[in-house]
Amino acid sequence: MAKVVILGAGIAGHTAATLLRRKLPKAHEIVVISPEPEWNWVPSNIWVGVGAMPRTSVVFALAPLYARLGIAFRQGRAVALHPEGDAASSTPFVEYTPAGAAADAPPQRETYDFLVNATGPKLNFAATPGLGPHGGHTVSVCTADHAVEAAHGFLASVERMRKGERQTLVVGMGHGTCTCQGAAFEYVFNVEHELRRLGVRDKARVVYLSNEYEVGDFGMGGLHLRRGGYVIPSRMFAESLFAERGIDWITRSHVRGVAPGKIDYTTLDDAEQELGFDFAMLIPPFRGIGLAAFDRSGAETTTKLFAPSGFMRVDADYTEKPFEQWSPADWPRTYRSPVYENIFAAGIAFAPPHAVSRPLRSPKGTLVAPAVPRTGMTAGIMGRTVAFSIADRVLRGPDAPLHEAPFATMGAACVASAGSGLLRGSAATITMYPVVPDYSRYEFGRDLDYTSGEVGLAGHWLKFVLHHLFLHKARCRPLWWMIPE
Ligand SMILES: Cc1cc2nc3c(=O)[nH]c(=O)nc-3n(C[C@H](O)[C@H](O)[C@H](O)COP(=O)(O)OP(=O)(O)OC[C@H]3O[C@@H](n4cnc5c(N)ncnc54)[C@H](O)[C@@H]3O)c2cc1C
Repeated sequence: MAKVVILGAGIAGHTAATLLRRKLPKAHEIVVISPEPEWNWVPSNIWVGVGAMPRTSVVFALAPLYARLGIAFRQGRAVALHPEGDAASSTPFVEYTPAGAAADAPPQRETYDFLVNATGPKLNFAATPGLGPHGGHTVSVCTADHAVEAAHGFLASVERMRKGERQTLVVGMGHGTCTCQGAAFEYVFNVEHELRRLGVRDKARVVYLSNEYEVGDFGMGGLHLRRGGYVIPSRMFAESLFAERGIDWITRSHVRGVAPGKIDYTTLDDAEQELGFDFAMLIPPFRGIGLAAFDRSGAETTTKLFAPSGFMRVDADYTEKPFEQWSPADWPRTYRSPVYENIFAAGIAFAPPHAVSRPLRSPKGTLVAPAVPRTGMTAGIMGRTVAFSIADRVLRGPDAPLHEAPFATMGAACVASAGSGLLRGSAATITMYPVVPDYSRYEFGRDLDYTSGEVGLAGHWLKFVLHHLFLHKARCRPLWWMIPE
C-alpha cells in the first residue's frame, strides 16, 4: 500500500491532498504536514485587511475536514528531506517539528512513497530592515492574521482622519525583487474604495509604491489589451485606473529600509528617496521556506534539490541564459524533481527557471527585478496535476505516464475588487493567457482574445462568486470536485 506525504496545506497542497484522497482507495495513506491549523483562502485577505470581511469568512479548521475525509494531519513544520532514507533503512522520510514542540525537541519522522512539496513561500520580511508586522513598521495581507492586523491599522488611520488629521497610506512592494504585485494592486483599490465609503477620502494621500518598471507590469513584463480598435499596453489601463481614483504611483523602486513613519527607497537611477507614511502595507519578497536535504550517508544535498532561492527544482530548464533567449519551453510541465522520481513540487514551492519581466540593475548595482507572479489558479492546477500523476503511478504502476500542465500554457486572472457586498463593489479585472509570453505564437506575446482588462460591478461579482465557490470546494462540500481550479 502506498503512502503519500504532502507538505503544506495551502491552495496547491490542499488541492493535491483532497484529490488524491478521492482517487486512491482508503488502504493508501495520505498525510498532510502543515504548520497552521487552518486553511486560508488567501485572495480574500484583501477584504479582511480593510475590515470589510471577518477573518472567520476566509479560514476553516483543517483537522475535522481531514478526519472526515480520511487524511492524516500532522500540524507541524517540515525541516528536512531524506529521499534515500538513512544508514538504518532506505525508506525515504521527512523530518518535521510538530506544532507546540519544545525548541530543543528532536524532529519527528514521516516516511513516504511519494512526496509533494507545496510549502509555498517564506515571507522574507527580514530582507528589508523594518519591514513587516513581526517587529517592523508595516503591515501585510499575506496571511489571515496579518490581514486582521492590517485592518486594525487601516481603521485607526480612518479614525484619525475622522478627527480631521491628514494621513498618507502607502501600499506596494517592500523590496526590489518582490512578486505578487497583483495582491498590492487589489489592496490599494480596496483601501481607496473604503476611504471613499467611510467619507474620509479627502483627508488621505494614497500612494502605490512598486518595483515594477511601469504600473501594469505585474512581474509579467506587462501585457497588451484590445480596446476600441486599438491595442494598448496595460500601463495605460493601470495608470488611468490610478489617475481616476487619485492614487499616486512610484515605480522602479527598491525599498532599503522602513523606520517608524518613513520608507527609505532608491530608484533605478540610484536616487535616494524618503516617503513618509501613517499606514503602509508592503508585500515582502518571497523565497523557499528553507527545507534541507540529505542523502543516505547523511551528507547534505540541499543544493541538488533546491535552487539558490530555496524553491525546489523541477522539470524546468535552469540553464543560465540572456533575457533574449528565455523561452516558454524553459518552464516545467510535470513538476517532478529531476533528482528523485517520487518527489514533486506544486504551487509557489517550485523554482521558476527565470523571471518574465526583464530584471534591471541601477548603475550602482541595485537589483530591481519583479519576480514572476505565482497565482492561486496555477497553484491549484499544479496540485491537481501532481495528484493525478501520483494516483496513476500508485494504481497503474511506475510506468504510468505523468500528467502534464505546462506552466507556459497557463493563464491567470487578477480581480482587483473593492467593496464586499453585492451592490457596493467594483473591480478592475485583468485576465491573461498565457502568463509566460510566447512571441512565436502571438504578436504581442499573449492571445488578445483571452487577455483583457475591464472595470465594473461584474468583476466584483466574479470575485465574490469565486470566494464562495473555492471555499465550497476546499471544504469538500457536495460535488466539490466538479469545480475547476
Ligand atoms: C493578498 C493576496 C491576494 C491574492 N489574490 C490572488 C488572486 O486574486 N488570484 C490568484 O490567482 N492568486 C492570488 N494570490 C496568490 C495566491 O494566494 C497564491 O498563489 C497561492 O496561495 C499559492 O498557493 P500555494 O499552495 O503555492 O502556497 P500557500 O497558499 O502559501 O500555501 C503554502 C502552505 O505551506 C505551509 N507551509 C509553510 N511552511 C511549511 C513547512 N515548513 N512545512 C509544511 N508546510 C509549510 C503554509 O502554512 C501553507 O499552508 C493572492 C495572494 C495574496 C497574498
